[in-house]
Amino acid sequence: MSQHFDYIAIGGGSGGIASANRAAMHGKKVAIIEAKALGGTCVNVGCVPKKVMWHGAQIAEAMHLYAKDYGFDVENKGLDWGKLVAAREAYIGRIHTSYDNVLGNNKVTVIKGFATFVNKNTVSVNGEFYTADHILIATGGAPTIPNVPGAEHGIDSNGFFELTQQPKRVAVIGAGYIAVELAGVLHGLGSETHLFVRKESPLRSFDPILIDTLVEVMNTSGLKLHTNSVPKKVVKEADGSITLHLENGESQNVDTLIWAIGRHPSTDKINLAVTGVETDDRGYIKVDEYQNTNVDGIYCVGDIMAGGVELTPVAVKAGRQLSERLFNGKTTAKMDYNLIPTVVFSHPPIGTIGLTEAEAIAQYGEDNVKVYQSGFTAMYTAITSNRQPCKMKLVCAGEEETVVGLHGIGFAADEMIQGFGVAMKMGATKADFDSVVAIHPTGSEEFVTMR
Ligand code: FAD
Ligand code: NDP
Repeated sequence: MSQHFDYIAIGGGSGGIASANRAAMHGKKVAIIEAKALGGTCVNVGCVPKKVMWHGAQIAEAMHLYAKDYGFDVENKGLDWGKLVAAREAYIGRIHTSYDNVLGNNKVTVIKGFATFVNKNTVSVNGEFYTADHILIATGGAPTIPNVPGAEHGIDSNGFFELTQQPKRVAVIGAGYIAVELAGVLHGLGSETHLFVRKESPLRSFDPILIDTLVEVMNTSGLKLHTNSVPKKVVKEADGSITLHLENGESQNVDTLIWAIGRHPSTDKINLAVTGVETDDRGYIKVDEYQNTNVDGIYCVGDIMAGGVELTPVAVKAGRQLSERLFNGKTTAKMDYNLIPTVVFSHPPIGTIGLTEAEAIAQYGEDNVKVYQSGFTAMYTAITSNRQPCKMKLVCAGEEETVVGLHGIGFAADEMIQGFGVAMKMGATKADFDSVVAIHPTGSEEFVTMR
């Protein structure tokens, strides 16, 4: 016996929940299957707990870098890590409740357990069978641990969120969003933090104005950035500490080592082979522009999609658009993967949309690209002895000077760029930017006053 649905979403993360709710709102009989906790990576071990920790680090920095120069007699008597973690997890608990309520109100059946395919229309969970006309695969990804001796002595980003005590000395290994964010959080909260990148800088695919400024701030802030540092082996010492040995002969002893070297798709254990769904050679599921796999009735959104962008709002939007197309007659609804705004919650934060300067030159030719830049001291820090830079760049293309790239790093850059994303999606030119009256005194006004 099996239970039949119009739509089953495998994976109760950002993409699965968004798509399941939208399908149910259009009157469909929907189930969502989740092996761990509703909310997936973002809510439980990603965006949400990360941002809470980032805010914690911001408060710590406000106290020890800026408060005194603003005239406050502040004494930071230390961080109660356990209290911060408890408050964070309680907040996540409230998000779970809200998800339960919304799914319940929409009459989505929540099935707890790990789904595997039986055939292209049937999945099995805890020995029960469920069939559907349409099945969404939204099983996300997991952190990758490298194949170096002793790698098991390190933890990954999931392990970071399980820490019950603040590490005194920590090594973070990797060069992407997660490495930069976790290193920044730990440094901000007062851990001695070493960031090891295997090449010349972190965030190598970002515009150089962002990388150079981030590295400058890291170096002046005391966060220890080790470049050209390839891990060779990890040794657990008799006193419980961990030593990271590098290919260049150097080593670093720490209490905690965090691998943040990228993620891989969770497609290996779902018995995908019985469906005939094609993946790329890394296991990411191939889809067309409508999120269709090569098998009729099976779709995919989010982090496991080949060639996608691993961000929560991308998974959410793709999931909702898919349900609009399948269940609300919007036959051309699809996710637009162009000009996706993104923020790295570094210290200071980075906001970026569109092409880097190099990408624009490669696409339009050097003669057709004009770049505008601005640099200043963030006003929040300007009256203090810890002045922090804010740098911005507009990359414009063609005679009209269409803004094809926008990059900012500095205080509040994370909150500056969402609206500029709207303008860029509408094809805004430099002249359109200049036609807007600046809001003064803010950092974002620089984006509309560049010469
Ligand atoms: P997920 O959210 O990973 O959900 C997949 C779900 O499927 C999981 O709950 C999993 O348990 C479940 N599952 C897997 N296999 C099965 C199965 N066989 N049966 C049943 N259930 C299954 N993005 C941002 O936009 N902003 C951020 O600030 C941000 N910060 C991040 C910080 C960290 C540390 C990490 C790791 C990620 C961050 N991301 C951020 C990325 C974001 O979390 C992901 O892009 C997003 O969660 C992807 O959603 P998804 O639905 O594809 O997968
Ligand atoms: P990323 O893919 O962003 O970065 C991982 C980097 O680690 C690689 O680019 C590589 O950089 C380096 N690396 C790879 N292998 C090794 C190795 N063996 N040893 C040392 N370094 C290595 O992965 P993340 O795990 O940081 O994040 C995954 C995704 O999650 C992100 O791409 C992003 O889409 C999303 N995310 C979004 C956030 C946000 O929106 N704020 C926050 C966190 C995650 P190099 O080649 O330069 O060495």
